[in-house]
Amino acid sequence: MSQIYDRVALIGLGLIASSMYWAVKRAGLAGEVTGFARSETTRETARRIGLCDRVCDTVQEAVEGADLVVLCVPVGAMEGVAQQIAPVLKPGATVSDVGSVKRHVIEAVSAHIPEGVHFIPAHPLAGTEHSGPESGFAELFDNRWCLLVPVEGSDVDAISGLRALWEGMGSNVDEMDADHHDLVLAVTSHAPHLIAYTMVGVADDLRRVTDTEVIKYSAAGFRDFTRIAASDPTMWRDVFLTNKDATLEILGRFTEELFALQRAIRTGDGEQLFDYFTRTRAIRRGIIDAGQDTDAPDFGRGKT
Ligand code: NAP
Repeated sequence: MSQIYDRVALIGLGLIASSMYWAVKRAGLAGEVTGFARSETTRETARRIGLCDRVCDTVQEAVEGADLVVLCVPVGAMEGVAQQIAPVLKPGATVSDVGSVKRHVIEAVSAHIPEGVHFIPAHPLAGTEHSGPESGFAELFDNRWCLLVPVEGSDVDAISGLRALWEGMGSNVDEMDADHHDLVLAVTSHAPHLIAYTMVGVADDLRRVTDTEVIKYSAAGFRDFTRIAASDPTMWRDVFLTNKDATLEILGRFTEELFALQRAIRTGDGEQLFDYFTRTRAIRRGIIDAGQDTDAPDFGRGKT
């Protein structure tokens, strides 16, 4: 793989930025990668583990002279960062982001992008429940999708450059319109996270089952919920605040279906339950056939 950008700046040094750094280095996609995080602690950790070629003490210093600037901060922090970097962006540079919600980020960031700088929003559909500078790894994006969400009039060469970077980091790349992205993600990621948070909360509140029992006898279903519900609170607060309409639409539909299943259980309608579960099983098969998960028992976790 050959170099795509002379200099890349990563703003925010958590799970996604650190994974990007290791993936960029693995394939030699950039000459130099600079990095900035708001806290001194995170910057010190980054220096200690060799995350970024140069960790800067100000966001402006990290961005100066960069050909690509990627905003890797929580969705609610994007606008503030865009405002801070606007005066120092290099003419002809590309600004991108990795935020989990796109319409809000486009509205919050676009206004601050100077003439002659290209803004190409993006969202890698890859992550773990861990966060921070030490949680990243080069393989995170391998065979995962990255959605590019070009805004009106986006520069074709700037899109090609960013596409090549994500492909070089191991991703499959697609382009999508912002509103459709937010609806798709509400179904595939945002509503499921809320359901996991709720289920773990319910188990915690249920006094007739002790915490020890929940932990000791937690079967695969609940264990998967607890893993998802351990995700970063700031990131997920921002996702729900900024993808409000699509999430509420999906949760409305979810509630209707839940009531229908609840009724089927109460009335003993086994046929309805069986048909429903048969349909959903086929969806799982489709995900495995598309290479997006493993059908190994217990998701390949082994006996741990
Ligand atoms: P993370 O590990 O929690 O790291 C967030 C980084 O942003 C940290 O370096 C933090 O700095 C910095 N930051 C937080 N608030 C800030 C503010 N107000 N101003 C400036 N910097 C700030 O987060 P992440 O998981 O990498 O997520 C980053 C972005 O990727 C989010 O927009 C998220 O929606 C998106 N995303 C996440 C996933 C996922 O599964 N995690 C997947 C795809 C996309 P300090 O360390 O100094 O506090």
